[in-house]
Amino acid sequence: MKKYNVGIIGATGMVGQRFATLLENHPWFNVKLLAASPRSKGKTYEEAAGSRWAMTTPMPESMKNMVLYDATADINEIASQVDFVFCAVDMKKDEIKALEEAYAKAECPVVSNNSAHRFTDDVPMVVPEINPDHIEIIKSQRERLGTKKGFIAVKSNCSIQSYVPALHPLRKFGIKNVLACTYQAISGAGKTFETWPEMVDNLIPYIGGEEEKSEQEPLKVWGTIENGKIVKAQTPNITTQCLRVPVSNGHTAAVFVTFENKPSKEEILQCWKEFAGVPQELELPHAPKQFLNYFEENDRPQAKLDRDMEGGMAVSIGRLREDTQYDYKFVCLSHNTLRGAAGGAVLLAELLAAKGYFD
Ligand code: NAP
Repeated sequence: MKKYNVGIIGATGMVGQRFATLLENHPWFNVKLLAASPRSKGKTYEEAAGSRWAMTTPMPESMKNMVLYDATADINEIASQVDFVFCAVDMKKDEIKALEEAYAKAECPVVSNNSAHRFTDDVPMVVPEINPDHIEIIKSQRERLGTKKGFIAVKSNCSIQSYVPALHPLRKFGIKNVLACTYQAISGAGKTFETWPEMVDNLIPYIGGEEEKSEQEPLKVWGTIENGKIVKAQTPNITTQCLRVPVSNGHTAAVFVTFENKPSKEEILQCWKEFAGVPQELELPHAPKQFLNYFEENDRPQAKLDRDMEGGMAVSIGRLREDTQYDYKFVCLSHNTLRGAAGGAVLLAELLAAKGYFD
């Protein structure tokens, strides 16, 4: 595989820092430049982000002295130096939409963590194990944008990346109704216990916009391409409650599900064990070998013990049992800033690279 030069837009933030650490020794991607807000422009990465470095591994040596670009003012300069960019910025939704389209129109593909374009109907929202075929919509998007190379591809919200993978291989039994309660880590808000001490010994029963995303995004991920658009799936019915809990990393979901054709417990366990997607077949660098991992122990998965499985890219499941109101209930866990954010975007970029979309 040839090496691609990449930029990180929003490099100083929580997700941007994850990108920096994940890409430090990436076999296919070489970090050529970093960008953030006008506040950071002209500073080295160490000056701009050193004091708020939130990763457990140190800032990559190769990036410490990189001088930051302004993500908006320097678009053409950035686009001329890289093959594509990763984007994770904290800006208003319409500003992010405009920023990402400006990069795409400058013939610089964007692999985004932001939610702004998730419901643009020719922008693929991809969980690479679930809907890798949605990247074929990029042809229609390029026609709309008038680009040869530029496009936008996004990953889904972190909250759905624990329960949608677990439900996906069960769709053949006709999933009717899903109730999911999520217990979401503080890093999902770009925070640590140092920067958000109010979260110690606390629980907040509200995360703005999260329940709508958690109910609607799975339907796009399970949607189909029709006439140059991704049309959302009609089923299942999904209802959610999303809570912020005092956990540093790792989103847990308690899931209840009813089927058209109720499978046996053994059939469900077999579906999880045998499930593998395109990333596993292509052996992409960040693909977990075993995507779905079931624990027999009653007290697993636990955020602290299990979130880092396979580099934080695997999903853990436990406590599958029959329910009195739904057919089954179970619990699942995924790492929100790895599988749920930067890691998921890196895996998507690997899929796009393997399929030739950056050439
Ligand atoms: P964050 O820690 O607050 O970082 C925000 C980044 O955006 C910083 O690099 C900041 O640069 C940059 N920025 C702010 N204003 C800007 C501007 N006007 N122009 C260019 N850059 C600007 O946020 P985060 O948690 O990393 O989240 C970033 C994005 O990823 C958000 O859209 C969020 O919804 C999404 N996301 C986050 C997670 C998660 O787990 N944290 C998961 C999925 C998706 P300065 O340092 O220069 O201010």
